[in-house]
Amino acid sequence: MKEINSIESYNAKIKNVIITEQEIKDAVKKAGKEIDAIYDGTPILLVSILKGSFVFMADICRAVSVPCEIGFMCAKSYYEGTVSSGVVRITMDLDRDISNYHVVIVEDIVDTGRTLTDITTILKARSPRSLRVVTLLDKPSRRLVDFRPDIALFTIPDYFVIGYGLDCAEYYRNLPYIAEYNQAED
Ligand code: 5GP
Repeated sequence: MKEINSIESYNAKIKNVIITEQEIKDAVKKAGKEIDAIYDGTPILLVSILKGSFVFMADICRAVSVPCEIGFMCAKSYYEGTVSSGVVRITMDLDRDISNYHVVIVEDIVDTGRTLTDITTILKARSPRSLRVVTLLDKPSRRLVDFRPDIALFTIPDYFVIGYGLDCAEYYRNLPYIAEYNQAED
């Protein structure tokens, strides 16, 4: 990614909005109801995979009505610009034993599927009562391993996207919508 040295160069990389703020709000509300229906009053532990899912986590935790605790993990899936190198590493782990919990992993996007395959393998080995995955975005056309989220709010084509928690070189996480990143500007 070229250095951002002006507001014009920053804005030029936001190609087009593919999911609006309102569409996200509506989908989060619906996903909250789906989670409520699955757990039917049973307490859950929502686990946000940082950093990308921090915005989604803040909204989905307020869209569920079942009793819920929250936890955070940090996984790095080494991206050089917009291309994944395929190496996933847990850089910050959960602060508790999850063996008594119904765990719901909250992720921003499933792309190749490697990150969540690794994270679910690690968490399953800790014997939670149950484990499910809710992802904001799903790019099934990019899958390299067979991974299927339990709930995906939006299925998108093979675009590199930014906004609502998703970054490019740490910028754009604070956009309230999801946009396609303009790679032609790099
Ligand atoms: P996977 O392991 O499924 O290939 O990748 C998952 C991680 O890659 C996501 O949590 C996210 O950090 C990053 N990623 C994949 N696709 C995109 C994308 O289109 N935009 C951004 N900003 N990150 C992505």
